[in-house]
Amino acid sequence: LFAGQSEFVKGVVAMSGLPPADRIEVCFAGRSNVGKSSLINALTGTKGLARASNTPGRTQEINYFTQGPDLYLVDLPGYGYANAPLPVVEKWQRLLKQYLSGRQTLRRAFVLIDARHGVKPVDDEIMKLLDTSAVTFQCVLTKTDKVKAKDRERILAQVRGALSKHPAAFPEIILTSSEKGDGISTLRSVIATLE
Ligand code: GDP
Repeated sequence: LFAGQSEFVKGVVAMSGLPPADRIEVCFAGRSNVGKSSLINALTGTKGLARASNTPGRTQEINYFTQGPDLYLVDLPGYGYANAPLPVVEKWQRLLKQYLSGRQTLRRAFVLIDARHGVKPVDDEIMKLLDTSAVTFQCVLTKTDKVKAKDRERILAQVRGALSKHPAAFPEIILTSSEKGDGISTLRSVIATLE
């Protein structure tokens, strides 16, 4: 799956704009600045594919990338823009709900959690949405290079505790650092097992 090229397909702003459901897909969700763009770039080995920036204008789009001929990687809007206007927030929340409950080919969501901060209330909200949408999700800790070994177990325990409340959660947590390349091949293998 990851031998092939990766390319940006399109930014989707409405369900009618989704590309044909002709292959499986996985999506990535996380708070703004969690390291989502960096992770997608590391995963695909394509620098600058997902823009590693926080342009608020792009937060309402669901961004589609191909990974070879058989897989889409889907970058969901970053959440946690406290200062975005309410109608904007409501519009993308509606799109997000429609997407999560309506996309037949979606095999798993990866919820990115900053390894320094653990699960925050907004992350918990997304996990609830995934529960109600019946989309299996798996936690990916990002930026693990920024966490000292002695703090790691405490954060992991917090994340495990949060996951235990969510029926749609897949129990195994993937630890990654896009900076160091840690956990990237593990994440690729997990995605490769999904059909
Ligand atoms: P996004 O808003 O979730 O797409 O986050 P970005 O990928 O743009 O990353 C936000 C910031 O965190 C940037 O300054 C990145 O360089 C930094 N960052 C992302 N991943 C890592 C990582 O694995 N380790 C470290 N140390 N920094 C990272």
